[in-house]
Amino acid sequence: MAGKTDMAKFAKFCKDTGFIFQSSEIYGGINGFWDYGPLGVELKKNIKDAWWQDMVRNPPPGPDGQEIRMVGLDCSIIMNPQVWVASGHVGGFSDPMVDCKKCHGRFRADHVPQLQCLLRPSKAPGQHDECQLSDAREFNLMFQTNVGAVVDSSSVAYLRPETAQGIFVNYRNVLNSTRLKLPFGIAQIGKSFRNEVTPRNFTFRSREFEQMEIEFFCNPSESMKWYEYWRDLRKKWYSTLGIQSSNLIPREQGKEELAFYSLGTTDIEYMFPFSDEPQELEGVAHRGSYDLEAHAKASGKVDDLAYFDEELWNNDSQTMSTRSFKEWLKSNPSEAEIAKYKFVPHVIEPSAGADRFTLAVLMEAYTEEELTDAKGQKDTRIVMKFHPRLAPIKAAIFPLVNKDGMPEVALKLYRELKPYFNVFYDDKGAVGRRYRRQDEIGTPFCITIDGDSVKDGTVTIRDRDSMQQRRIALGDVRNEIANLLMPSAS
Ligand code: ATP
Repeated sequence: MAGKTDMAKFAKFCKDTGFIFQSSEIYGGINGFWDYGPLGVELKKNIKDAWWQDMVRNPPPGPDGQEIRMVGLDCSIIMNPQVWVASGHVGGFSDPMVDCKKCHGRFRADHVPQLQCLLRPSKAPGQHDECQLSDAREFNLMFQTNVGAVVDSSSVAYLRPETAQGIFVNYRNVLNSTRLKLPFGIAQIGKSFRNEVTPRNFTFRSREFEQMEIEFFCNPSESMKWYEYWRDLRKKWYSTLGIQSSNLIPREQGKEELAFYSLGTTDIEYMFPFSDEPQELEGVAHRGSYDLEAHAKASGKVDDLAYFDEELWNNDSQTMSTRSFKEWLKSNPSEAEIAKYKFVPHVIEPSAGADRFTLAVLMEAYTEEELTDAKGQKDTRIVMKFHPRLAPIKAAIFPLVNKDGMPEVALKLYRELKPYFNVFYDDKGAVGRRYRRQDEIGTPFCITIDGDSVKDGTVTIRDRDSMQQRRIALGDVRNEIANLLMPSAS
């Protein structure tokens, strides 16, 4: 998508095609909440599946060519509220806000110059003579609810504002149940909720959204190596799914921006066409041992959250006179000596937004092409140039006309492909119009059954982007589609 985009126009396109609808629209909607339509749900599912496949089931080798060990989790959205006290979210997960006593708007203090106030004509808050802005005050972003029948302070719970904490509090359960050794990663995809003060830019800043998060646990002595591995891998992943590298900008946070416990954070930013500045798609953070230590301290389960490198100990202890680690500890080794075997792992956290990436994919794919037909007539073709892996529908099957045996061959092919791919059968209207409908929703291939197909068992396969058609054998269609759905190299 080139140039600055009118987001209202783009949201209308997404609604008309069935990608994204406003939540509860018939009642006027609700700000910051969105529904994915029939095509949007497929697109977002493909994005989450690609992430799971490429990061959890088949991550590329590590910095020294080693296999990466990754497992998944699916934690509850509401957890014991102590989780959020220990993580710092109850005390500190807030944005400074200003309220306007005149229009009753509430605005994020650091966004005021780019926002519009509720008075007309719309200006930035504070720009009208009548505006009465308060001083900035902290506003906690967590949604609260009550668990159980009694509504009082003892029943307060929170909708999780990130999926990460579910991973940290299950670290020991995962270690015990899988017997994994460092380094390893735990991944989770799930909903998160933040009562954002000014949701905006379509789904970019929503109040309910999905995250795809990894906590990668490693030995502190190797943590910088792993930080660099994840930072580079995560940026590359977006380009393998069709995002142009030039639109992806990794931004290493300056020292003054870093959380006090972080040894490095890189935001992977994307040039969304609604802004002149790149905006965050994902944060890759070196979180040190901060989270595990915070939970160890708050829960009192210090031993649960530390890691004992048994293999290293067994190896080294062969040359020692002591038989067990416990016994060795009695010989008063230094803290550094102990930390060689028993330590709190460091954590690298690549934290991505499924909805933000879906929006980036939609905006990157949207293309308007000026075409001139054989009679010299000019026309605009809208085409969603999705990577085939992400495309909601992989192939559309058309009988050229509804007679002469063509529908039978087309339906048979459709039924043969359906168990493997999301395919679509369309026999309505002129074939040119059918192609255009599929271009508009980003279907990479259209397969047409014509008179020759019935006679010689060949079909035409049309490429969405080049609009070129080739003839291939009916029996090769499945392989042809499967090959094009493989991840790209870069
Ligand atoms: P921002 O600075 O944009 O508010 P953040 O730094 O608070 O984002 P993180 O807490 O690092 O975001 O969350 C990790 C990822 O989750 C983000 O990179 C983004 O993709 C996604 N995310 C966070 N907040 C939202 C939101 N309100 N709507 C949609 N996605 C979000």
